[in-house]
Amino acid sequence: MAEDAPDILLTKERIAQRVAELAAQISAEHRGGELLVVGVLNGAFVFMADLIRALTVPCSVDFVRLASYSGCESCGQVRITKDLETPVAGRDLLVVEDIVDTGLTLSWLVEALRVRQPASLKVCAFLDKKERRKVPFEADYVGFAIPDRFIVGYGLDYNERYRYLPDVCVLRDTAS
Ligand code: 5GP
Repeated sequence: MAEDAPDILLTKERIAQRVAELAAQISAEHRGGELLVVGVLNGAFVFMADLIRALTVPCSVDFVRLASYSGCESCGQVRITKDLETPVAGRDLLVVEDIVDTGLTLSWLVEALRVRQPASLKVCAFLDKKERRKVPFEADYVGFAIPDRFIVGYGLDYNERYRYLPDVCVLRDTAS
């Protein structure tokens, strides 16, 4: 994959507008409650920082980091390399992820968290490449449905580059 300057797919202004809409919807649906927002590291950290500041319900935050078993990236064998530090039993969870692609990561994580018996569990994904699914998975809240291109910026990386870009960008001539 070339490392050209990326092209903008979603501007920071369009992202800010959509984050405000998502936060309003999530806040309305959790009015009177308190959320534990679970960010999936590293890609979700920028989106999550903007989202929680736009919520009008109180929340606390925690993070997980996941990895695929090496040599098995496409078979859905996920492991936790950094676990939550907060008990989730009885809490209202909002899992925040950067992008749903095959669906393998989030479908595994949702099951792993359900075992811990939260009161409720919703998933908010910033981006969704619906055509790439290998397992059925629908997030409860989606920022943008996007085509099958490799995305960087707004927290997403290519070999740890580009996370700092304020816009969502595509690397030229790439499919994911
Ligand atoms: P899934 O298990 O749904 O296939 O994978 C989700 C993860 O794959 C995301 O959290 C992200 O780390 C990575 N991923 C999938 N598509 C892209 C993409 O277009 N750009 C980047 N930077 N990461 C992606």
